[in-house]
Amino acid sequence: MAEKKVQQVRIAVQWGFLLFSLYLGVTFYRFVQHFRSGGATPFVERPDGVEAFLPISGLVSLKGWLTSGSINPVHPAALVVLLAVIAVSVLLKRSFCSWICPVSTITELCWKVGHKIFGRNYRVWLWLDWLLRPIKYLLVLFFLFSILVLMAPDSVASFILSDYNKTADVKMLDFFLNLSGLPLAFISGFLLLSFFFRNPFCRFFCPYGALLAVLSRLAPAKVERMQSACISCGNCNKACPSHLDVMNAKRVCSEECIGCLRCVSSCPKPEALQVRLKGGKVVPGMVFAALVVVIFVGGTLVGRVAGHWHSEIPKSDYQRLINNGPPIEHP
Ligand code: SF4
Ligand code: SF4
Repeated sequence: MAEKKVQQVRIAVQWGFLLFSLYLGVTFYRFVQHFRSGGATPFVERPDGVEAFLPISGLVSLKGWLTSGSINPVHPAALVVLLAVIAVSVLLKRSFCSWICPVSTITELCWKVGHKIFGRNYRVWLWLDWLLRPIKYLLVLFFLFSILVLMAPDSVASFILSDYNKTADVKMLDFFLNLSGLPLAFISGFLLLSFFFRNPFCRFFCPYGALLAVLSRLAPAKVERMQSACISCGNCNKACPSHLDVMNAKRVCSEECIGCLRCVSSCPKPEALQVRLKGGKVVPGMVFAALVVVIFVGGTLVGRVAGHWHSEIPKSDYQRLINNGPPIEHP
């Protein structure tokens, strides 16, 4: 019974993070508007959490941290969030994708609605699936190689302090506010496809998901099937959004497993399918849920307490970079 409730908890966690992301977006919009309007709209503090949407900046910060030993003060939260996401994935598979990521929350809603309308979700032809799946790995390889290998430490330092990086969050906001042409077609296309197929963006194109997929191989907690208790009903296979053959696996090691626990929740035999540590110890679904949230939120809190959360970009820089008009008086 408790394992069935896990899905309600997961949906609540997903939507909680999605609503929080929207709150961050609206607050950041108001912050930018204050400068754009020359001070005509009230000033609100910049929410540092928006840096969660700057993974490239976080990766450059990681390189800077590894080479210089210090965390840059421009977008420190981007690195803290990246490290928290990595910690979740190394311990609990790609659970970030199915419990926290707002993109996945929206696409999951789409394929569930699609399932209601069409009575099923479709599966991409196997040959096309094999052809498309490496794309996300090629994208992440490109970013990792360009930043962690090719970028010289001097270039890292100058990029971090550049005006371009300082307003990377503003550029991201403007990108979404002024969607048109190819990006709009790309996003609309994926949203539309998500009504027919389960998580096509995550499965084929998300470089973040690819990075977590590789790291999730290390996770000690994985879904395990107990042959003696399994009645081969196939519920787990039907429930799996990643189309994994759970029913015939002993331990689900695939990097496509996003740790959603839908398979465990749909299993009619409680002992047949469980999350287990390598030594065989069971991790109950509710404990798994609590760990995902505690590790992610706790990781960001550690960053805050250690003083690596709040950006040190002065208001005068935002004034200069967003609206180079007359100075705005701030208390
Ligand atoms: S194997 Fe289970 S936990 Fe992994 S993606 Fe499929 S349903 Fe989710
Ligand atoms: S849902 Fe449970 S009982 Fe049914 S096939 Fe999967 S593991 Fe076996």
